[in-house]
Amino acid sequence: MTSVFLLALFVASATGQEPEGDPKATEVWGPEPPVVSPGEAGSPPADAIVLFDGEDLSAWVGQDGGPARWQVAGGAFTVVAGTGSIQTRRGFGDVQLHIEWRTPEEVRGEDQGRGNSGVYLMGLYELQVLDSYQNRTYSNGQAASIYKQHAPLVNASRPPGVWQSYDVIFHAPRFAADGSLERSATMTVLHNGVLVQDHAVLRGPTLYIGEPSYSSHEPKRPLMLQDHGNPVSFRNVWIRELD
Ligand code: MG
Repeated sequence: MTSVFLLALFVASATGQEPEGDPKATEVWGPEPPVVSPGEAGSPPADAIVLFDGEDLSAWVGQDGGPARWQVAGGAFTVVAGTGSIQTRRGFGDVQLHIEWRTPEEVRGEDQGRGNSGVYLMGLYELQVLDSYQNRTYSNGQAASIYKQHAPLVNASRPPGVWQSYDVIFHAPRFAADGSLERSATMTVLHNGVLVQDHAVLRGPTLYIGEPSYSSHEPKRPLMLQDHGNPVSFRNVWIRELD
């Protein structure tokens, strides 16, 4: 190591390539990034909008605009089959989202019928929630897929009944005044801390049937969680607006 350093020093002095100029000329001091307290491990950062703090679903409504009818218990909330998907009262565009989820410990069903729910950015772009622990389904429909558009890079699933996390960076699509697409939506996802979507470019809203394509929509729309008939639970949901 020492010899390598001495060699580098010798080459630099022998060729006269000492760095010249003022190192301060390339330092940028302003603006200073705002201070955000990251909070304790497992709690939201100071500037996050908390969408579920363990107590109630006041930040959420049903698809009909009425109260969200999923069950709150033990610091989590759980899909009540048949009550419908729920969505946030407020709309969001570009966001960082943290959400924790758990599929039922008692395994029922298989393939797409096992612990299915979904996190829909802007109510249109589904990040799949599924029990994908030793449960084969189509790759672009398993947990951490962007439904029928992008399979996850790896399967980082934990067993059923164990809490899992998604950390998402989502950039909303941009539309011109005439409704044409200016920029596609993108999504980066960590599943249990493992990179599973790396700046994936979406081709439009995620569809069950057919090829996706964009239609112009509002710059902010509610986050939606899917009632797919399985009692999937969620907790510790927070979001940071990036725009
Ligand atoms: Mg789903």
